[in-house]
Amino acid sequence: MSSTGRPATLRITEIFHSLQGETSRSGLPTVFVRLTGCPLRCSWCDTEYAFTGGTTRSLDEILAEVAGYQCPTVCVTGGEPLSQKNCQPLLTALCDAGHSVSLETSGALDIADVDPRVSRIVDLKAPGSGEEARNLLSNIPLLTPHDELKLVIASEADYEWARARIAEHHLTERCPVLLAPVQGQLKPADLAAWILRDRLPVRMQVQLHKIIWGNEPGR
Ligand code: SF4
Repeated sequence: MSSTGRPATLRITEIFHSLQGETSRSGLPTVFVRLTGCPLRCSWCDTEYAFTGGTTRSLDEILAEVAGYQCPTVCVTGGEPLSQKNCQPLLTALCDAGHSVSLETSGALDIADVDPRVSRIVDLKAPGSGEEARNLLSNIPLLTPHDELKLVIASEADYEWARARIAEHHLTERCPVLLAPVQGQLKPADLAAWILRDRLPVRMQVQLHKIIWGNEPGR
């Protein structure tokens, strides 16, 4: 229930059961709750269909649908889930229900109030995204080993930028750091070669769900 006495609601693009395609949870059966809306416009965004539309659902309806999948692992994603004020109550309710919860967020909004049981997967936007100016650097000291920091890399210039930020902020000492190539723009083999050449202690990832199913929404 919200402070107004009305049931808490969220705008939802989709809820679906799939394999986690990213992060250290890659490969795990996972229920995804995709919230509608994002204030950013990354050049390589692959979820533009979540910018608008969606349906308004009560918190209880969302929890019931998630429970129906009988899957312990849940990922709240978007869009930018934190742009909806009821995202925080949703995360807490999912944890209270016994789920292992991760949150995928752009890194542009404050993560301080996210339930500490949630694993926060926070982007750091490289210049090729067109959204570098939106990085909220005050989030970086809040990261713990329970969280992960993700940099999506579109070019060698993005990689060198990422390498400099990793060194500058000692990022790999805070939490696991993920580097991912933009599909269709940067060859995974090139990114792998640079990481190995530089002995960069990061985890490279390619999106497992796209290898299996392509770019279909709901996967
Ligand atoms: S933050 Fe995520 S959803 Fe928003 S534009 Fe960037 S990639 Fe797309």
